[in-house]
Amino acid sequence: MSKTFDIGLEWLTGGAREASALAGPAALRALPGGSRGTFFLETFGCQMNDHDSEKVAGVLLSRGYRQVESPESASLILYNTCSIREKAAQKVFSRLGEFGAEQKAGRIIGVLGCVAQQEGEDIFRRAPWVSLVCGSASYSKLPELLAQVEAGNRRVTGLDTDTDETFETPVTRRDNPWRAYLTIIEGCDKACSYCVVPYTRGPERSRASDSILREVRQLAELGYSEVQLLGQTVNSYADPTARKMKFSELLLAVAEAPGIRRVRFTTSHPRDFSPDIVDAIDRQPKLCNHVHLPVQSGSTRVLRAMQRTYSREEYLEKIALIRGAKRTISITTDIIVGFPGETEEDLAETLSLLETVKYDGVFSFKYSPRPHTPSLAMRDAIPEEEKSRRLAVLQKKQREIQTSKHLSMVGETFETLVSTKSRRENQWSGHTSCHRVINFASQEPMLLGQYVQVRVTGATPNGLSGEQAP
Ligand code: SF4
Repeated sequence: MSKTFDIGLEWLTGGAREASALAGPAALRALPGGSRGTFFLETFGCQMNDHDSEKVAGVLLSRGYRQVESPESASLILYNTCSIREKAAQKVFSRLGEFGAEQKAGRIIGVLGCVAQQEGEDIFRRAPWVSLVCGSASYSKLPELLAQVEAGNRRVTGLDTDTDETFETPVTRRDNPWRAYLTIIEGCDKACSYCVVPYTRGPERSRASDSILREVRQLAELGYSEVQLLGQTVNSYADPTARKMKFSELLLAVAEAPGIRRVRFTTSHPRDFSPDIVDAIDRQPKLCNHVHLPVQSGSTRVLRAMQRTYSREEYLEKIALIRGAKRTISITTDIIVGFPGETEEDLAETLSLLETVKYDGVFSFKYSPRPHTPSLAMRDAIPEEEKSRRLAVLQKKQREIQTSKHLSMVGETFETLVSTKSRRENQWSGHTSCHRVINFASQEPMLLGQYVQVRVTGATPNGLSGEQAP
């Protein structure tokens, strides 16, 4: 979930981040800004947080704020935070600590997202210069909360987690002009023993299918050609309307919107990954050749301790479903090493799972105990250095797997959505349907936002290089 320490990183997130400096489609570009003040917004964590920040930016721009690139020049500073790992949460308090005594009079500082939800009003005690603490479930109330802050209230909170009004903020200012994130389910009803998300984001709430489809059509009209449906457990989607659309039906309906060329979805939970999702991918070429299916460990014993609700064998059955599709679907995953009680044998099972599945990308992390989680009560007996060693072993193995997979792609041609122009002349970067980053050469003067055919001529562990094919 985090974007910090893995070899799959550039592969999945690089394009969107680099494209963030680009202007959006006309209707969004035309938003006013600046008359009320300036805001700086820094985002930590997952794609859900990235998209939440797009909603927050939309609310602020429509209220007359102008976005700036540094906190020093902002009258409103917001941190959209992540608490999935200890390090990410610490980073926020270290950012807040940079203000303190130097805090300029009249400047407003707010903490949003998971740390806000986790720490609540305690943030006011730890950082008294903070005026706003707001969890993700309350973003639709941001205009009212901001109005209170602007009126001089110095202790404003939005910390409900059970509201349905999660999905629609008045305006969303999307960072990428061609690929749009869309949250379809919020919160989580699973209870993985290491995970703080059910506490910070609350119970699962699905967005009405007609509202999702309406927004997809609007996005297509604005020029977006790729949509990525988001949820902590996106495939647990349960349509709250009388239509009762299944997740796989929703995928097909989204793909049918005129103008949409690619549909992605993250993150899938293995327990709810059903054959009809693979059938839908088989039927509809617009559904991308990529599934992110977090396993967390290759050992059934550790999976039980993590309360993941499936065994190694059951997980492998889901992989077999995906491998049985008519086209090749790339599979990525998340893995935690050093979970309390993980033995060398457990680690060996995880390494053998890597060999068996041959993942196209792995986001791997060291376990860190989080507040409000059941695993906090377990003895975290594995020393930090040993966790680091295990992580390095796992990443080395995965790097070998990825290198060999990428080398086997040399000579193939992929349709690529071009998202970035390199500083180097005639060099571009884009994403394939299987979600690989591909850097390539082309003599064309303008390719951003276009789909082009790229022939692979080179490979690294994290990506591909090539040239535009005729
Ligand atoms: S499925 Fe597990 S890891 Fe994922 S958000 Fe829910 S509780 Fe956390």
